[in-house]
Amino acid sequence: MYRTKTCGELRIADVAKVVTLCGWIQKIRKMGALTFIDLRDRYGITQIVLDESKNPELLKTALGREFVIQAKGNVIERSSKNQNIATGEIELEVTELNVLNAALTPPFTIEDDTDGGEDLRMKYRYLDLRRNPVKQNMMLRYGVNREVRNYLHDQGFLDIETPFLIKSTPEGARDFVVPSRMNQGEFYALPQSPQTFKQLLMVSGYDRYYQIVKCFRDEDLRADRQPEFTQIDCEMAFVEQEDILQMFEGLIKHLFKTVKNIDYTEVVPRMTWDDAMWNYGNDKPDIRFEMKLQNLKSLGKVFADVLNQTDFKVFNDAETVIAICVPNAAEYSRKQTDELIEWVKRPQIGMGGLAFLKCAADGTFKSSFDKFYDAEKLKSLATFCNAKPNDLILILAGTEEKTRKATSDLRMEMATRLGFRKPDEFKLLWVYDFPLFEFALEDQDGGGVGRWVARHHPFTSPKPEHIDIMVNNSPKVENLEKYLEHPYAQIKANAYDLILNGNELGGGSIRIFQKDLQQKMFEALGMSEEEANHKFGFLLGAFEYGAPPHGGLAFGFDRLCALLGGSEIIRDFIAFPKNNSGRDVMMDSPSTIAEKQLKELGLKG
Ligand code: ASP
Repeated sequence: MYRTKTCGELRIADVAKVVTLCGWIQKIRKMGALTFIDLRDRYGITQIVLDESKNPELLKTALGREFVIQAKGNVIERSSKNQNIATGEIELEVTELNVLNAALTPPFTIEDDTDGGEDLRMKYRYLDLRRNPVKQNMMLRYGVNREVRNYLHDQGFLDIETPFLIKSTPEGARDFVVPSRMNQGEFYALPQSPQTFKQLLMVSGYDRYYQIVKCFRDEDLRADRQPEFTQIDCEMAFVEQEDILQMFEGLIKHLFKTVKNIDYTEVVPRMTWDDAMWNYGNDKPDIRFEMKLQNLKSLGKVFADVLNQTDFKVFNDAETVIAICVPNAAEYSRKQTDELIEWVKRPQIGMGGLAFLKCAADGTFKSSFDKFYDAEKLKSLATFCNAKPNDLILILAGTEEKTRKATSDLRMEMATRLGFRKPDEFKLLWVYDFPLFEFALEDQDGGGVGRWVARHHPFTSPKPEHIDIMVNNSPKVENLEKYLEHPYAQIKANAYDLILNGNELGGGSIRIFQKDLQQKMFEALGMSEEEANHKFGFLLGAFEYGAPPHGGLAFGFDRLCALLGGSEIIRDFIAFPKNNSGRDVMMDSPSTIAEKQLKELGLKG
């Protein structure tokens, strides 16, 4: 037997026992005849002592950091106790020591606060995984996985595996493809999600399905994206939106309770997509704090009288003018407002400037556009924005989409600066009634003359009251500039996203389950009948054999783990992640393959 106890296990009650431990040497300290070693394994650290005066043989073997050793000895009470670790009251007085394997000096210290940079730690990820913070993340991930399974199992869901080698049916992103050796010139694709399979399972009658499953998307990477990632993928039959929202709100609340010991008893608020865009400027608002967008003038919907009585061109000429009231910031200095102006001018935000209005505690106003607005107008602007004394009103003006996004970014930035994004506060939110379509003026590869694309995916159903609009109108857009006036722009989807603190945890929809409507959808997306049959004939066929009404959703498992772990960096919660360029720097993949392999695959003559 290699070991009788682990390094996290021994307590004062074990004193006088003879035990054997195995582990890695974290630290060696020599003090006269005594050598102290911190021995580490997955479970913790135990101090072991080699006493040269009692057992000189022990020190004949060379030892070093990260050597793997086996130590047998007596558990004794420590004279100076360490209250910081669970085993801190005892130590192991070693009588027998075996080096199981030597180790090179690690390229960075295996400590909570390591001296290793990101790249180095990724290259030696197997060493990084030995560190406590990373280990905690892996344990949390496993805990979340287990509790997801417990909850869904208790609700009668079945975990059913679906294939990884499938047909290329892009769902929005590019597919990763795999050449087939046995069918040369043909390719499998790796699934972007098991979407069509889970719908087929509904047709088969497995009315509650789930899977914690790898998905693959060949997208340009952003900091928090991985080309392969994990979803909690779910589908239910004979349900309406309400059933799904309740079931999965329940799942997340269960995770809060079991993983974080938080009783999340509040009802999760719901917000339409229109309201989210109007009040927060984006579809995944962080509602831990207010600072809602005040639309002074937006596509003609709101028009504050004050605006058109002045000569301030910046506001007058803009398509959209949006303000936010930053609480208790009226005292911002010139330097601080100048810095905010620079912030909105950064290329990532891309605005030309920022106007501000300080609402002083004594009821007076001072703005960056005093030249154009007298005291009374400033006051009515402040009133329109619901500003309170001491608020700093920040105002952006420009084209609709850009200004809305910029104001939303500014809102988040101010919240971060002012400490409103509290890491220990969790606020869930459902956003629903998304538009069914988006209008893409260009295709992914820059071609095309503008067409409708599915905002979620092509299997999402329109809201029942909007089905007629879709069926009774041609998708053709005559005037590209006025696509917003096309009836299709008004169609809302039976789709929903669950948001946590401004992050999308997941989303889904009630699906189309009638062949005709699904065909109409493919047509709306610009697919010919032939193309639709070639790509999705199997699904259209299945809909002819008794498809029940169904719907579902998927959560991003990596992100969920990160957020429950108090982080937004999903890489830290994946054992072997890719870097920002989609590379595995440890294995050094992707990599070239041998000529012989290329030939076998028919990729080279
Ligand atoms: N398959 C969808 C996705 O990956 C989720 C869903 O609609 O269930 O986003």
